[in-house]
This record gives sequence, structure tokens and C-alpha cells, in this order.
Amino acid sequence: MKRNWFYFPFAGAVALALLVWVGRQAFKSLKTPPPTSLPVSAEKKAEPPAPLPAVEMHRFPGVLGPTNISQILPSSPTDWRRYGVGGTNRLAVLLTDPDSAWLGLAHGLRTIGVPFLLTTNTTRALTHRVVFAYPRLSGAVLTAPELRALAAHPRTGGTLIAANVLGGGLENIFGFQQAITSQQHHEISFTSQHPLTAGFTHPRERVFRVAEPKNPAAIAGKYHYTQPALQPLAVYEDGTAAILLRPWEAGYACALGFDPGYLLLLGYNNREEGISRAYVNQFEPSLDVVLRLFKELYTTTALAPVTLGTVPFGRQLPVLITHDVDYTRSLTNTLAYAEFEASVGVRATYFMQVKYLRDFNDTAFFNDSAPPILQRLRALGHELASHTVCHSLNFAKFPLGTGTERYPDYQPFVRTPILTLGGTVLGELRASKFLLEQFGGQEVVSFRPGNLSNPYSLPQALVATGYRHSSSVTANDSLTHLPFQLNHDRARAAETPIFEFPVTIEDEEKPPLGERVQAALDVARELARYGGLMNVLIHPDVTGHKLQFERDFIAALKPVAWFGTVNDFASWWAARNEVALDVDLSTNFAAVTLAAPRPLNGLALQVPAGWRLQSADPASLKITQADAGLVLDQVPAHARLFFRR
Ligand SMILES: [Zn+2]
Repeated sequence: MKRNWFYFPFAGAVALALLVWVGRQAFKSLKTPPPTSLPVSAEKKAEPPAPLPAVEMHRFPGVLGPTNISQILPSSPTDWRRYGVGGTNRLAVLLTDPDSAWLGLAHGLRTIGVPFLLTTNTTRALTHRVVFAYPRLSGAVLTAPELRALAAHPRTGGTLIAANVLGGGLENIFGFQQAITSQQHHEISFTSQHPLTAGFTHPRERVFRVAEPKNPAAIAGKYHYTQPALQPLAVYEDGTAAILLRPWEAGYACALGFDPGYLLLLGYNNREEGISRAYVNQFEPSLDVVLRLFKELYTTTALAPVTLGTVPFGRQLPVLITHDVDYTRSLTNTLAYAEFEASVGVRATYFMQVKYLRDFNDTAFFNDSAPPILQRLRALGHELASHTVCHSLNFAKFPLGTGTERYPDYQPFVRTPILTLGGTVLGELRASKFLLEQFGGQEVVSFRPGNLSNPYSLPQALVATGYRHSSSVTANDSLTHLPFQLNHDRARAAETPIFEFPVTIEDEEKPPLGERVQAALDVARELARYGGLMNVLIHPDVTGHKLQFERDFIAALKPVAWFGTVNDFASWWAARNEVALDVDLSTNFAAVTLAAPRPLNGLALQVPAGWRLQSADPASLKITQADAGLVLDQVPAHARLFFRR
């Protein structure tokens, strides 16, 4: 996490010692007269230049590794056809320009649980009740017959959503005169009361951000619509129309004045640059509002809208208790937390700094005292995860490395807050994972960098080194409280199999954590309304008020929340991400087909009110009713559910 370096009294002492040492070296070199006429033999015997201070390191005898090599595979852009299959009950994204931020939209729709597919074929898209033209609708990207067919869709019972309606003669369908480029805008408000937006009750849901207030023009692709035929669903800060919603036969025509895929990628790629209204500890749902609006449009207008819940076993929210162990005293304090958590049936994640070198920050506390603690944490059911080797503020700027780094040769040395010698991204990932696995006896699959210092290469480096889950950013800084899939280089084109589980609440902001129980529960209450993730970070540098916070927080949420480790939730999330959901309808019945390539327990399905479950195949499926819909206890590779409606 973002750690003030004054946090460590030790660091100050080391800094002072270093300064004195550097000063002395400088003084010495000035004072020592240069050799004048040394004989050749004496020159050979001359002492080598003064060495750097000897690296003080903890060596585990006979331990060396990892011995494998980590290779980063070249990235290839994700093909949109990966998202191109499925039945007509899904939302159809009509991709009008594959050279766009469609991958952000695809990842967002997966996250919010709306079944969808992508197509570039207008005729195929129009076999779906709900069609989303993306990234723009105009005569430049579609032919006149295609535009006419799309215009007819809302008139014949369909819903047509479009980002950036820039021409093509569909103005009347959406109800406006002209789309005007709108670079000065940064905020969108839902002004009117509408059933689709009734769930947006928090001020930060009623108003969400699409650009940075100080530099709104940095986000291109914004438009406002002139002379709206109806009161707009949402407006920019000067009252011009940002989102239009025009009811038709059984659906809507909905025009967005911004590019939702681009906005989603800004958050997911951790490149929001000042759009967010907070850094951490607050409610910042800008992306979630956009995704929930799409979900509302789908569930109110699709013929058989069945969606996937975001919380295991249909609970109200997932809670991850995570600890960053990055300080000498934290290591022993972990047990107080771990024993308490186990006593209330909570499995937590311990992000361990594997600090085998003494440096500016601290002593080499990952020493012989660490293995018994790791083993106790594991025995209590907790997850051991990596929090780097050297916890450098500069991790984001480290070179990638060779993929051959190994303990004990890999020796990153933090000299000052701004200078680390010998560190690499791959070295931090490899050496920490190796030693934790060596002494913890558990596969290490989750990673969190020190200070949340986030290199662009992190997603692909995690893949190359055998990690599966990341918790490397804050939720507020990502503009979302839902997990998301990471892209290669945190860029637009190529997805990785790594998912990010951002931090919601941390313990370094003022007031002290012990005084923030209610504030954290207030955020949890907002998240519980739509199944947002509550990821709590507590440094076990002290017990006292922080442990008390944890006791109170867990007690308050136990009745409604699902608790688990990062790996528990992330494995569930990754399996859920692969679930294919389709629905076939007959006059009085609906058949829901699920395909789950990976094993998955506790999947929640939200089905329309009034549907009654008649039977399931396999008949042994255990299905229960929970807060957030029907819950399938164990999801087989293939299942069918039959409903009367
Ligand atoms: Zn840390």
C-alpha cells in the first residue's frame, strides 16, 4: 500500500547512516592524495575501489530458486470473435468499428453478468431483441439499408442502444437534432426520476464522471445531443443532453454521448488520471453506474432476461480481508489477526513481503522466524500471497528483468525512497513466490505490490511467473467496485487471464482505522445494493485499534456478506467469467442453458419475477433461493433449468 516512509523509525536511522557513510566516502576521496609514481608491482597490488556497504542478507542454507525460466509471450490482440457466439436472447453488441475500445465493453458486460455476444453483421444483430451499436452509429460505418433496419428495430419491439450517434438519419429514433462534439464536459447527472435509474440513490451514482474536471478535453469522443424530443435521461454539468432515452413499442432507443468502452478501459487500465473523486476508502462507482444502466436496459426489455450475480452463493457482497505484512513487527502480529479470523470462520489473505535483505526500509525480517509463521497461517486456512521482495516505491519503474532471477542471487537493494538497485519486475515476482512456496507449502497465486506501485508490464509478468490474481490498485482509482480482467501492458488490445481485485478500504488514511468502522460499513452498504467487492487492507504493524476494527467490521457484515481469501473469490470469479448463459422460450416455459468450463460453486442467477422453477438437468442439481436470486450449489459443466413463466 501507499506507505509513508517515516512510518519506519528504522528507515530514518538507516537513511542517516547512509548519508554519513556517503559523506565520509566523499570526504576520503577528496583527502587522499592521488598516487604519483607507484612502481608497477605496487600498482597491481593496489586496493580495489571502496565497495558499496556490504549487503546484509538472510541466507537459507541450501535454498536456491526458482530454477525455471519465466518467459513473457508476445501479445497478440484479442480477436472480437472470442465473444462472437451465443443465442439470440443475449444482448447483441453490433461492432461498427473493431478498431475501438470494444474489449473494455466486453469485459464490463462480463463483469456485470449480462449475457452478450459481439457481431459485425447488422442482420444477425437484429435477430436479438436488445442491440447495442458500438462504438458509433453513423453513415460512415454502416450502409443505408443497415441504418434503415436498425431504425426499424425499436418500432418493432426491440431496444436499440448506441454510443455516439453521429449521423445516419436516426436522429428521430433517438429524439434529437444534432450531435455536437462536447470536449468541455466531465460529469453526467441523472436529473429525472426514471424506473431504469431508480437504483441510483447515492449522490455519486446520481452524478458520475466521464473526464477529469481540470482537463475534460483529455477524454475525446464526448458529444451532446441538441433539442431532445423528451427530457434527457441524463445531462452534462451545463444541462446539455448526455444520455437520451426514448420509449418505443416494447423497448427503448437509448443514445449515449460518450464511449463506454473507452471509459471502462481508463478505469481497468489504471489510467484514469484524475477522473476519480477519491483515491481510496470512499464510494466511487462511475463505471458501475454505466454497467448497471446497461443491465437495467437489458433486464427490462429482453424477452427472457437472466443474468449472473456477482457474489458467491447469492450473498449481498463479497468481503476479502487482506493483510500486507511489510514490517518487522508485522510478522509476529499476523498471528493475532490470523487466530482471531480463524475463530470466526474467516479465511484471510496475507500478502507477505519476502524481505531477506537489510536496506533503507527495514531489517531482513524474512529470516528463520518466518517459516513457522507461514506454516501457522496456512494451518489456520489462510492464503499466503506475495507482497514483493524489496517493497520499492519505484517498482513501477523497474526494468522487466530476464526471467532467470532467483534467490539468493537476486538482491534488490533499496538505498533511498527514490533509488533501488538491482530490482526487476520479474525478480520481485519470482523470488517472493519461490520462497513463500518453499516455506509455506502452499501455491502462491495472488500478488500485491508495495505502495501499490503498478508497472505497465505487471499483467503479463504475473502470467509469466505463474500468478493468477492481482490486487494492485484501489477501487476508487479504478472507478469501479467490481473485479475486472487485465490487459497486456494495461493497454487496449490484448487481454490476459489475470483478474484484478481492487482495494476498497485501507488503514493509513486519517483518522485511525479504529475510528472508521462506521465509514467503512457505509461504503459496504452501498456495495451491497449491487454486489460490489469489499476488499479491506489492514497492515498488522499494530494490533489494538486495527484488530478491533476487524472484529467490529466482520461482526457487522457476517450476516449478509460472503467472506473468503483473494484466491477463493478470484478463482470463483474467473470460473464465473467463463460461464455461457442462454435461454430458449416457448409459450409458457423458459429453458436456461448453462455451460461452465471450470468448476464453480454457489453461482447466483437472477431470473424474471414470476418464473417458477419446474425441473433441472441433471436432476441432482441443488438449487436454493437467496438474496440475489437462485443459487446453484455446484455448477456442472453443462446444466439446464426449466421454468414455467
Ligand atoms: Zn506494503
